[in-house]
Parts: sequence; structure tokens; C-alpha cells
Amino acid sequence: MGALNTLPVSLKVQGKRIVIVGGGDEALNKARLVSKTTAIVVIISRHIEVDFSPFAHEVHERPFAAADLEGAVLVYVGDEGPDGVAAIAAAHERGVLLNVVDVPDQCEFYTPSLIVQPPISIAVASEGNAPVLARLIRARIEALLPPNLGALAQLAGRMRDRVEALLEGAAARRYYEEIVTSPAVEAALIAGTGEAEAEAVLARHAGAGKAAGVVWLIGAGPGAEDLLTLRAQRLLQEADVIVHDQLVPSAVVDMGRRDAERILVGKQKGHHSFTQGEINGLIVRLAQEGKRVARLKSGDPMIFGRAGEELEALDRAGIAHQIVPGVTAALAAAADTATPVTLRQISSGFVIATAHGANSEELKHWASLAASGLTLALYMGKSVAAPTAARLIAEGAGADIPVGVVVRAGRADRLFYRGTLGSLAAGITELDDGPAIIFVGEAIAHGDWDQAIKLAKAEVKVA
Ligand code: SAH
Repeated sequence: MGALNTLPVSLKVQGKRIVIVGGGDEALNKARLVSKTTAIVVIISRHIEVDFSPFAHEVHERPFAAADLEGAVLVYVGDEGPDGVAAIAAAHERGVLLNVVDVPDQCEFYTPSLIVQPPISIAVASEGNAPVLARLIRARIEALLPPNLGALAQLAGRMRDRVEALLEGAAARRYYEEIVTSPAVEAALIAGTGEAEAEAVLARHAGAGKAAGVVWLIGAGPGAEDLLTLRAQRLLQEADVIVHDQLVPSAVVDMGRRDAERILVGKQKGHHSFTQGEINGLIVRLAQEGKRVARLKSGDPMIFGRAGEELEALDRAGIAHQIVPGVTAALAAAADTATPVTLRQISSGFVIATAHGANSEELKHWASLAASGLTLALYMGKSVAAPTAARLIAEGAGADIPVGVVVRAGRADRLFYRGTLGSLAAGITELDDGPAIIFVGEAIAHGDWDQAIKLAKAEVKVA
């Protein structure tokens, strides 16, 4: 690792002049950037080619004069003609920091790639080596940040005197941690009542009470690390404890803070698994201890995730919660196989159902939906796939309705099967290990199932 040749600093520019010599797009880019500050932006060029008015305070269409740098803190030169040469000389003479656009060797400073949410600024700099890389890094950081970071920082700033009067050291830190991560404060900021909420939290902290816990019910998606929402990723990094199911892969759980406690509550064959009642009790207790709990569930938390019971337990205990949606397995399977689960004139709807433990009324209902063209996505159905298909046929769904099965949807090692309700009912093809989605419906014929293994039909008996 080498050392830096530049030092990122925050230069005070309020009310000072930043001079840009040049009248084209490069000058405009610089003007746009520096206009995010309270500096006075001055443009000088013989040829004003673009509209600077949204970004500049003064636009002078004339030759540059050395006196233009009077009182300037920075000067950008984006002019290769005599005015540029004069401006560079004048900057050297007067000791005004100089940036010559796209000529790193002549620059005395570079402008980093910026995330600006006043008063917060985040700068990513590459000493002029790799501006494109710096922009990419900026975009990644931006994706991790809550949307109203600036308002939050301003709120924290306004609370400072009050906090100092009431709390000190670790207690003050805990207070700030709570207001910058609390969903209640986030919501209050949007509603314009951030101040009151921050005061209420302060009153609670000052009253020697512990920080209030919260439970986030987070959808982890189907298993790929990049099929998680940005909000899920951010909250995972804020959580003190991550309570997760077996189906959530470790790569996703690893997105949490390194020092976060992890509790696996999932069903694991041969191991003790928590009952739903125990899980409800666990998340309530952790939140009552003041912890921020990420309850991480595969796919979307509201689909076959027992979220109803957990929310009821949290409400009964008066614990704050927030739900973060995720990509449910059926939609990952649809994407994997380019299957439009709704399709004009073919499938007017899409039904998410579970084959596990379905009674005959339900099966009858689905059979008629499938017969009418709707796409069924059956969850938790792999072990009962053949008998379920047979019963759907018995209830009136055509044996020739297309069927597609996706095992481990959304993951690199996914596997597809295709056939008909009849071939699924024959039950000859053994489906691979792992969670599976069973699609039933005409829309399947319109997907891309070329990679799929064919489900064997009854008459093609294999030895
Ligand atoms: N909340 C989850 C569903 C949990 S129930 C979601 O929205 O996806 C568990 C069932 O989901 C499994 O039996 C299987 O049918 C399905 N499932 C979960 N992950 C899957 C995956 N990666 N590929 C295919 N099916 C999956």
C-alpha cells in the first residue's frame, strides 16, 4: 500500500468566489458541481456556448483578466485558448488553487466524485487516475445510504445542545445511534415532525430508560446476494441480532455487521429447530432488551413466512416493527425461465399457493383456476408433487396443461424441469434436492425452458 499524494479536506467556500474559465460543457460540469455549495460561482469566457444560469451567479462573456481572480479561492480552467493560458498564469501568480480540466499534471487540486446531502458530503477521489472508478464507488456507497441523510444530520445538529445538557459519553452516543437508525424518526422526518420525535427519544434516554428495540422483518430474496433490496442491506448492517431461517444462505447473513449476533431458527433436519412460538418469544425478548433485530426470511416475508404470527406477537408486546419486502421464490423462478406469469390473452392472473397440506376444496378451486388459464405457483410442494398433480387432474384440470419446476430459483446452481400436469402426476422423474417452485399453466409454454430436463411420462417407463 502506498501513500496519498493528495489530502481530501473540506474547504470553506461560503460567500467566496469560485472562478471557472471556459464556456462549454466541461465548464458547465464544474459549475454544476460547485453550485452545490454556497460559494459565488463566476463564469468567464469569450464564447458562452451553454446555459449556465441554473448554476452560476455571474456569467461574463468577455476575455479573462487577471483581476478576475481577486478574492477567488479556486479556479477551474476549461479553455485551451489564450484566456486559459492567462488564467493559469494568473492563478500561479496570485496563489489561487488551480484545476486545469482534464490535465492532471497541471492541477493543484482535483474535485472528487461527490455525494451531497447537506450538511453531509462524501467524497471519493482517485488523484485523477480513475474518475470512472470513483463514480462507480460513489454509486455503491450511495446505495447504502438512507434517502434523507441530510435532513437526519441537520436534525442531529439541532439536537446537540439539548443532548449535551442531558446526556454524556456513551449515553449520548446511544441516543444519536438511535435517532439516525430509527424507522420512527425516519417516518417523522418525512412527515415534518422529526424534531418532536427526536425530543421524545431524548426524553426516554434521559429518563434512564434503555433504547427501544425494534424488529425488522426482512425479505432476503431467493438466495442470491444481489437479489436483496437496498433497504434490506442497510438494515442488516444496522442490526444487533440477525434471526434467520435455514433457507437464507450464509452469504446473505454475512451482509450483517461482523459483530452482530446470529441465531439460526430454521428447520434443519436432525437438529433442534425452534417452534413458531419459540421464535415469537425470542424476537420479542431481544427487542425488549433494546436490541435492533433483523428477522431475516427467505423470499418475501409476507409469503408463507409465518409473518402474521410474528407481527401479532410484536404488536401484543408493543414492539416497533417494519417490514421490508423481498423477491419471492416464484418471481425468481419466473425470471430464471423468462416466463411471464401473467400474459395477455393467455393468463389473466397469477396464484401463489401451497401444495403442502392442501385439502380437496382448495385443490378443486386451483384446478378450476388452472383450467381457466391462470398460472399457479405452488410452494412447498416438491415432496407431494405427483399426488397434487394427480388430484388437480381428478378435479378437472387438463392433463396436458404445461408444468415447469424450478429448483433453487435465483441461485447459480438452479435446475429446471418441464412437462405437463400428466407427466408430473406420473411421478417418475426424481426432482433434485433443494427448494422448488412448481408452475402450472399455459403461460409456461411461453417461457424459455430450453435448458429444462423433461419430466418423464408414464408410458416411457425407465428402468
Ligand atoms: N417466503 C418465501 C417462501 C418460504 S416457504 C418466499 O417468498 O419465497 C418455503 C418454500 O419456498 C419452499 O418450499 C419452496 O417452495 C419455496 N422456495 C424458497 N426459496 C426457493 C428457491 N430459491 N427456489 C425455489 N423455491 C424456493
